[in-house]
Order: sequence, then C-alpha cells, then structure tokens
Amino acid sequence: MTSVRIRTAVPAEYPVVGELTAAGYLADGLLDPGSPYVAELRDAARRGREAVLLVAERGGRLVGTATLAPAGSDLAELAGPGEADLQMLAVDPLARRAGIGRALVVDALHRARDARASILRLSAAAAMRAAHRIYADLGFRHTPALDRSPAPGVPLLTYALDLTLTWCDRCGRSLADGGHQPCAAAELDPPRWCGHCGRRMVVQVMPGSWSARCVEHGARTG
Ligand SMILES: [Zn+2]
Ligand SMILES: [Zn+2]
Repeated sequence: MTSVRIRTAVPAEYPVVGELTAAGYLADGLLDPGSPYVAELRDAARRGREAVLLVAERGGRLVGTATLAPAGSDLAELAGPGEADLQMLAVDPLARRAGIGRALVVDALHRARDARASILRLSAAAAMRAAHRIYADLGFRHTPALDRSPAPGVPLLTYALDLTLTWCDRCGRSLADGGHQPCAAAELDPPRWCGHCGRRMVVQVMPGSWSARCVEHGARTG
C-alpha cells in the first residue's frame, strides 16, 4: 500500500481540502447537505489561517484532513487554557479503512504535545464507531460532562487525551503504541501504573473508593 504522509496544507489546496471535508461528513449521512455547518466544513481557508490545517497525502492525492485548534482560537470549542482541540477530521470515503484517520490523529497529538498543550480534546458523533475505536485505542478517555448535541438526534461524544502522560495507567504500556481500547473499558477500576513514569503503583481499594500511589509522583484517588 502507498504510504500516507501527513503535513500542513498550503493555501492553494484550501478549496480541495474544503470539498474533502464536506464530502467526508456528508458520506456519513449525519448531516443535511443544506445545513450551515456544511459551509463551515468547506471553509478550509479559515482553518488554514486560524489553526493548523492538516492533510493526509497518498500517491499524490489528498485523502484526509483534520484541524488542530489551540486554546483561545475562535475555532476551539472544547479546549480550556493550555489545551488544544482536534476538529473536522474527515477521510475521503473511497480511502477509508486504511489507517488514514488514525495517522491524522497521531500526527495531531504529537504536534499538540510539541506545542506544550496539556490536553487534546475532540468530539465525534456517537454513530461514528470507527472513530471511537481509534480514540480509545490511542488512550483518549470519554469525558461525559462535555458531551452535547448540536442538532436533534445527533449526540456528540467528547474525548480527552492527557498529553503529559507517556504510559497507560491501566496496562502499563506506552500510550503511543496504541492497543488501549480494553484499557478504556476498565476506566472505572483503579489505575495500576503511573502515567508519568510507568512505575507500578501501590493500590488500595476501599468500599466505594481507591487510592493509587507512585513513589515518585504521589497519590491519586478515585
Ligand atoms: Zn493501556
Ligand atoms: Zn510516577
């Protein structure tokens, strides 16, 4: 398979990227083609000016895009101070199931970390099951308190990835390696590993609560 390259878009590509974004969303059947949001999706030029507009290029064609918006940008919807938002992830309907969406998310999280953002946030329609699998696999956690519904019958689930963590606190392996979908399912159990240093923590489980302590990074409770 031809390899995928992720990079920022150049201005000459904005019209193509806008069409690609709208086509990706419309293919999922979750949007009315006349919705004002479709015009927003087409406005890649604004995203290129106000945020980091990423594209996935394969075999000389643009096959995917996503936007990384820093906190404080008008485009950021979820990001608090020092955080970043990943938005408008779209993959060409003919180029799906090839890891392009995942490659865009991984590139964005490295860029957000390099820009010293503490958390990367994003949202995705509840029906987008493939996207939810990617986020859980990479260690994103569902943030139910931020979930919302921009249009009737279109619930959006929100996710956050703590960019200060290197290690999965559930399985102890590197977050960057992926494979953390089962760990997201164990979210209500106490963590076993320190996300900062990867050390085994000392875990105490009490009725209705727990505490987990790293010798270097201190205690967490839940
Ligand atoms: Zn894990
Ligand atoms: Zn630690």
